[in-house]
Amino acid sequence: MNHLRKIPLRMIKNAFQRQQYAPFSAASLEAVKMPALTFLTDDEKMMKDTVSRLAQEVVSPHVKKMDENHLFEKEIVDAMFQNGLMGIEIPTDLGGSGCNFMTTMLVVEELSKVCGAVGALVDIHNTLVCSLVMKVANKEQKEKYLPRLAQTDIGSFALSEPTSGSDAFSLKTTAKKDGNHYILNGTKMWISNSDVAGIFLIMANAKPDAGYKGITTFIVERDTPGFSVGKKESKLGICASGTCTLHLDNVRVPEENLLGEFGKGYQYAAGFLNEGRIGIASQMLGIAQGCFDATIPYLLERKQFGQDIYSFQSMQHQISTIATEIEAARLLTYNAARLQENGKPFVKEAAMAKYYASEVAQRATIKCIDWMGGVGFTKDFPQEKFYRDCKIGAIYEGTTNMQLSTIAKFIRKEYSS
Ligand SMILES: Cc1cc2nc3c(=O)[nH]c(=O)nc-3n(C[C@H](O)[C@H](O)[C@H](O)COP(=O)(O)OP(=O)(O)OC[C@H]3O[C@@H](n4cnc5c(N)ncnc54)[C@H](O)[C@@H]3O)c2cc1C
Repeated sequence: MNHLRKIPLRMIKNAFQRQQYAPFSAASLEAVKMPALTFLTDDEKMMKDTVSRLAQEVVSPHVKKMDENHLFEKEIVDAMFQNGLMGIEIPTDLGGSGCNFMTTMLVVEELSKVCGAVGALVDIHNTLVCSLVMKVANKEQKEKYLPRLAQTDIGSFALSEPTSGSDAFSLKTTAKKDGNHYILNGTKMWISNSDVAGIFLIMANAKPDAGYKGITTFIVERDTPGFSVGKKESKLGICASGTCTLHLDNVRVPEENLLGEFGKGYQYAAGFLNEGRIGIASQMLGIAQGCFDATIPYLLERKQFGQDIYSFQSMQHQISTIATEIEAARLLTYNAARLQENGKPFVKEAAMAKYYASEVAQRATIKCIDWMGGVGFTKDFPQEKFYRDCKIGAIYEGTTNMQLSTIAKFIRKEYSS
């Protein structure tokens, strides 16, 4: 857009006359053949449909109880492993499902339509833990950890600390070399899945005088002496997903558990969180769509003033607005996912998708409760849980403010060049 402003209008006119911008040039016909963003391959469609059935038939009956107990039922976690959803992109020869990134997004969306907490479990495990090990681990680490992540062990990604959240790279956890081990000390906070995880990716500073360039990633197993999972937070939403503090008290980690390159932890964290944000957008999209799907049939059935409440024009206009916003969130999310898996720049698009989808999820769930009237305010209906579950979208993996700052950085660059 910006560069067009600088082209004299007569040049555009000339270009049209030379057929460069002709509406039916070969290039534009090629463009017409590009599939819509909602187009899915047969494999993607099959996975989406299968997970949708799994969510409805297997997960759905347990959602209320898991929310009340603040704990995943073992049966549900087992179902995620047994159906290949804990190693979606892990190659099949290492025990995974060998699918693409878009499939991970579809799985997270489908699960979140039924339970945002199960969506979080699968999303964080796949997009932050499995991805990081898949893309930066050495051969031995991949052979050791990827089959476990795909089949038995839940993973946690530990970056945040009590004094470093948005300013994540000011983290205080240290890693000190001692022979062929590193000694880790510090406290991690807000770590998802950590109540049940077996494998933890810990970001620690192994060279504090180098600042954030000392941040290094370590694989730490749950039973390592000195490592303990502490307080579990009592939360507003995604209650079944355990969020705990981790204590590292002289934890001896063998140097072969250093993941990727020394001092590259900040790059890995930033890079994988950029991808992870598309997963959070998918989770938010699923929550918004799931809440909407659970609400519309009620509106078609419930009668007031002698007609179904869906028939009132003021209701229809609100419903149409929310349906449009959900579709816009879907297009932003799928676009970011396709850019990522095609190796194209996607950071701005991922930030936009996460920001927008989390806003839409909030608006959609609030509206659905309004539309349901009194029953929407009760725990007998699922809308109140969707409403609570979606709030996290504007907080974790970078708050809404941080997403808006990222988008603004790109806009400044585009308009300054
Ligand atoms: C349920 C849950 C699960 C989580 N899971 C994980 C996990 O698995 N792993 C992990 O490492 N972390 C996890 N987190 C941590 C999460 O990523 C942080 O909470 C988040 O990054 C915000 O950090 P903070 O809570 O310290 O808030 P702060 O950074 O203190 O921010 C507070 C407010 O200040 C604003 N703010 C801060 N800096 C700026 C700025 N420069 N410009 C404008 N506004 C600013 C923020 O937008 C926010 O509104 C989780 C958090 C929760 C609640």
